[in-house]
Amino acid sequence: MMNPLLVEDGLPAFDAIRPEHVEPAVRTRLTQNRRQLGELIASGARTFSDLVEPVEALQHRLNRTWSPAGHLNAVMNSEPLRAVYNACLPLISEYQTEIGQNGALHQAYGRILDREGVALDGAQRKLLENALRDFRLAGVALDSDRQARFKLLMQKLAQEQARFEENVLDSSNAWSRTVTDTEQLKGLPPAVVARAETSARDKGVSGWLLTLDQPTYLAVLMHGENSELRREFYEAWNTRASDQGPLAGRWDNSAVIENILRWRHEAARLVSFAHYTEYSLATKMARSAEEVRAFLDSLATHCVPVARRELKELEDFARQELAAWDVPFYAERLQRERFAIADEELRPYFPLPRVLQGLFRVAARLYGIELQERRDVAVWHADVHFFDVRDRHGELVGGFYLDPCARPQKRSGAWMDECIGRLELKSRRELPVAHMVCNFLPPAGARPALLTHGEVVTLFHEFGHGLHHLLTRVRYPSLAGINGVPWDAVELPSQFMENYAWHPDVLPLISGHIDSGAPLPREMIERLKGTRTFHAGLKTVRQLEFALFDLRLHSEYQPERGARIAETLRDVRAQVAVVPTPEFNRFAMSFSHVFAGGYAAGYYSYKWAEVLAADAFAAFEEAGVFNDAVAQRFLDSILSRGGSRDALEAFVEFRGRKPDIKPLLRQCGIAA
Ligand SMILES: [Zn+2]
Repeated sequence: MMNPLLVEDGLPAFDAIRPEHVEPAVRTRLTQNRRQLGELIASGARTFSDLVEPVEALQHRLNRTWSPAGHLNAVMNSEPLRAVYNACLPLISEYQTEIGQNGALHQAYGRILDREGVALDGAQRKLLENALRDFRLAGVALDSDRQARFKLLMQKLAQEQARFEENVLDSSNAWSRTVTDTEQLKGLPPAVVARAETSARDKGVSGWLLTLDQPTYLAVLMHGENSELRREFYEAWNTRASDQGPLAGRWDNSAVIENILRWRHEAARLVSFAHYTEYSLATKMARSAEEVRAFLDSLATHCVPVARRELKELEDFARQELAAWDVPFYAERLQRERFAIADEELRPYFPLPRVLQGLFRVAARLYGIELQERRDVAVWHADVHFFDVRDRHGELVGGFYLDPCARPQKRSGAWMDECIGRLELKSRRELPVAHMVCNFLPPAGARPALLTHGEVVTLFHEFGHGLHHLLTRVRYPSLAGINGVPWDAVELPSQFMENYAWHPDVLPLISGHIDSGAPLPREMIERLKGTRTFHAGLKTVRQLEFALFDLRLHSEYQPERGARIAETLRDVRAQVAVVPTPEFNRFAMSFSHVFAGGYAAGYYSYKWAEVLAADAFAAFEEAGVFNDAVAQRFLDSILSRGGSRDALEAFVEFRGRKPDIKPLLRQCGIAA
């Protein structure tokens, strides 16, 4: 039987892929790609369609092999899969750097841009400009010793970043808390208690077993009336993969972070950047570390005083000074008192199938698309669904997998990822396919999963990324969907979409009580709306703390001083934190966005893109949130354009001016 990872069309055979398929498939692909690339260059191909298009097709074919392996490693992690995935990381990284350092290809691309420049369309020109930039970033101009060193650094980084993520996953899975006294469960949502009961039964222990997954952690922190239980969870969560806490030293990421920062810095210096931040910003919308710093500082100026006021108010309400693990609990109570609404009370109104149905109607009204579930598609777990996407003429434009609920061996958080990129070349045409992954609290028994409103917002967010990937009209995979979009603009479509999960016209579409089917009552919608700006200051300063930490860590790094995690955090917290952090807190050790993911020296991107998203949504609010003309313009200028044009130009085309920070400050209630 053929290796399923080498099949070149159709959807991946997720039910047939085994760990033993991964490495042979990757090796075969890399060998083929190297040979064919060599032949292409030797053939003297020198036009866009004879050279660039085939190179795009080679990369696309490699992604078709590698993407399913990476995806399964994230959602169905196992020892054998992890081993082969890790064995392949350096192979993939070596190949990518080799392409980036290919001098003949670099020269050929440069000549095509010079010669065909005016005859090319905008996307083709952008593709070449990006490629020429990336050649430089991969060290094409270095001598061979330095090229080899750069390539080695990239390989080591790929492996070390994967190790970081594994340590986080393993230490999360290794900790749980058994409860035998019902007193300690007081306040916890019934769904969490029911799940803890099942977990205990499965493990053969008496009582309730609370695991350290994200929904359980958040539920304990927000609702657990037992302060000691909250403290234990807070400590376990914030010391994952560190030298502190209940599993101190067992999966410690300290040395991993030292390595990652040292190698990133060295790689950046090799290709002539002052530090890794400068290297990271070379592909982003923001122009310099100073510009980003000024942006974050200005947000801090607006938000820190507000956050201080909010904390003072909360302490008055609790009639005590609050520790870090008390803040979410009292915040939830204050919010409930003020708006007479509790996140958990909303769960019965948001059964997953109903939310999806409503979300699809929103997408239909905005962009004329139709989404329909298909049950004949091979998936990796029984919880997973697949949907076809059709345009307003009924033509198939793409599809996506939805893997909604938390389970062990699945990476925490929520994300959208490319399964197959869009491709429309002379030789071959393929439609985009996306993965949308969330970690909602799994249902107890036969009922569907019931979401909090926060989880509904997360679903809309990931769906926004999904639309960006699926509604692209760009022909080249390196610029289609989210590819080639600067990281600090890539959260625009996702954060934009979140606005709809809050809108009074949309909430009735996405809610339906699990027992009665009744939509969320009008007056509850009004109260829910009030919660959106609740503690906006506290929430923003937390994001600023992460962003400034990441930015300064990478900008101020000096090899002889090392990472300086604690010192940098202390400085940053002095500037923006208002809730005191306990000495044992080691949040950096599980900060996967920055140490394992693509947000290195780029965490600020969330806030940066939030400005764009709020400003874009303001255009809809001015004309009506379902206004056809505005939606069409958003689709044409931004959503369908992928990375085929400059992000700022695209925004200006849509909005008629440059982005403005005021709509965001208004949206979160920080400015009137
Ligand atoms: Zn996102």
